[in-house]
Amino acid sequence: MEKQAIRKLQPGKLVIASHNAGKVREIRALLDPYGIQPVSAATLGLPEPDETGTTFIANAELKALQAADLSGLPALADDSGLCVEALDNEPGIFSARWAGPSKDFGLAMRLVWDNLAAKGPEAGHDAHFICALALAWPDGHVEVFEGRVDGLITWPPRGDKGFGYDPIFQPTGHAISFGEMDPERKHAMSHRADAFAKLVAAVF
Ligand code: IMP
Repeated sequence: MEKQAIRKLQPGKLVIASHNAGKVREIRALLDPYGIQPVSAATLGLPEPDETGTTFIANAELKALQAADLSGLPALADDSGLCVEALDNEPGIFSARWAGPSKDFGLAMRLVWDNLAAKGPEAGHDAHFICALALAWPDGHVEVFEGRVDGLITWPPRGDKGFGYDPIFQPTGHAISFGEMDPERKHAMSHRADAFAKLVAAVF
């Protein structure tokens, strides 16, 4: 079968299909140069769908498709998470859920560390963040892109500049955690930046 051409995104409104303020902030900053007017799902009163997929890509797709369908506008969704290699890549797609209903990332970071410590001193601390981006249109067309950044889990948590698991993630080749890094620096190397670079090259 012939491969379909990637659909281009025209300047105008784009729904950011996320209720996570940290992600919306980063996505707005990344979209800034492209003539896009971001509108958040929360502003439009869109519901948060259940993340029933078994992969980052599947969850990003279902969030973007639902937001595009309900809003009648193109929609961009991000599904991302922290994968700790010694924990069989957990928390992975369950990264948000490890923080519990009160979204307590102090607790989620402690869980990661306790699970890793329980593996014993030989267990490696290698980890990576994955970001899947899905861009969907109201007619059901969807394009997906995946990005990754590698690093190590560190303890105790350090820095308050990012969100989620940033204080315990130290990217490869750097001596500070994502939580200690200025946002511009994180945006230049993160899993989200990697996925965005692929999206930008394809759809603009
Ligand atoms: P979801 O994609 O909404 O299911 O949530 C992903 C979760 O992964 C977030 O709530 C964060 O805890 C975590 N996460 C994703 N990206 C980052 C990041 O850049 N820094 C820190 N934590 C992240």
